[in-house]
Amino acid sequence: MKYYSLTNPSRKVSFQQAVVEGLAPDGGLYMPEQIPALPADFIQQLPTLSKTDIGFTVARPLVDESISDAILRKIVEETIDFEFPLVAIEDNVHVLELFHGPTLAFKDVGARFMSRTLRHIAQTIQREITVLVATSGDTGSAVAHGFYKVEGIKVVILYPSGLVSPLQEKQFATLGHNIHTIKINGTFDDCQQLVKHAFQDQELRQAKFLTSANSINIARLIPQTFYYFFAWAQQAHKHTVFSVPSGNFGNLTAGVLAKKMGLPIKSFIASTNVNDVVPEYLHTGEFNPRSSQQTISNAMDVGNPSNFPRLLKLYNNNWQSIAKEIHGYSFTDEETRNAMLNVYREAGYTLDPHGAVGYAGLKKYMEKDPDAFGVFLETAHPSKFPDVVASAIQEKIVLHPSLTELQNKSAQSISCSTNFSEFKNLLLEKI
Ligand SMILES: *Cc1c(COP(=O)(O)O)cnc(C)c1O
Repeated sequence: MKYYSLTNPSRKVSFQQAVVEGLAPDGGLYMPEQIPALPADFIQQLPTLSKTDIGFTVARPLVDESISDAILRKIVEETIDFEFPLVAIEDNVHVLELFHGPTLAFKDVGARFMSRTLRHIAQTIQREITVLVATSGDTGSAVAHGFYKVEGIKVVILYPSGLVSPLQEKQFATLGHNIHTIKINGTFDDCQQLVKHAFQDQELRQAKFLTSANSINIARLIPQTFYYFFAWAQQAHKHTVFSVPSGNFGNLTAGVLAKKMGLPIKSFIASTNVNDVVPEYLHTGEFNPRSSQQTISNAMDVGNPSNFPRLLKLYNNNWQSIAKEIHGYSFTDEETRNAMLNVYREAGYTLDPHGAVGYAGLKKYMEKDPDAFGVFLETAHPSKFPDVVASAIQEKIVLHPSLTELQNKSAQSISCSTNFSEFKNLLLEKI
């Protein structure tokens, strides 16, 4: 499989190059040259296959010969080495729990696949690789843990100072070793901008072998298709709809890729907080990126979703086709809190604020399509957001043991402004 840059489709690169570059030098996102079609009998056999078999079959046509079957199988096996349960909470409403990985969020899946792919690449090219990543929350911890002590790789994590929950910050900024953390005096969009700028800076790219671990990296996107298949394997239903709580739209893009490869999904729901650029586009055909607003589902506070061009490309950049298949809804913090409280009272199930947005989107969609088999993604464990969740459900919540351990540790980060030269010097001189 070759990959091409969305800004210059004639420039084609290998899977390996797409992974180490992250973004193409022209700033474009990489896309697979074709969308592979999975055999029909694979879909029928899903309920009988192991998770590793499923992941391997889905990933195989998306990577290339530089990774052997045996190595790919091992990468997949290590990536998805935990559960992905589909839990019924109401008639026709199911939650796909994506928080059973080491940092209790779905981003573990992308980070684990990417770290293992990159270690293989670093060995092949015999050069140190620097992973540059901007995070508004969970990417940072997933990447930090995914790469911690991996030989030949340095990780640099940028995050908006004061806009990431203290617990989240501790999850990625207390590790040390090859994990470097920089807090930026700005928003998440500023962090993303610095990362984008770094990739376009020739001097920096010569000094460091840079790659990105944001949801823009194809090695993060590919494994995120797996769990749509896992959900189907647990309960096959031809009217399955997935509600995806979204920020940068990597997760939803992966779901659409799964569908285009042959998984029979009826439609998707793009659920957002008040950062509703994409739902607005789906309703009006107008795409107006803008600054992000802070909400209680802070990992989705994104004003210019980085995966949007890829998502649109999967529908041939055609508003009518995308609007037919993806329904967009956005919710205020108050609506999100109400969703958490209702689900807690009615079903005894505790949602995190992101999953709650996904739930709210699904319920809204099902007002018009009540017979759908509804699945929403629960993208993080509720105890990652203890204060928000406790105040919404009016109940104390018990922290997950892996979080309790962190409470006594303190974050070790370097501070930096949004100025690119300052950031560049920091990278060249201190890291
Ligand atoms: C990153 C994140 C999201 C948004 O995922 P995207 O792929 O950026 O749309 C949702 N929920 C949680 C908990 C996250 O960390």
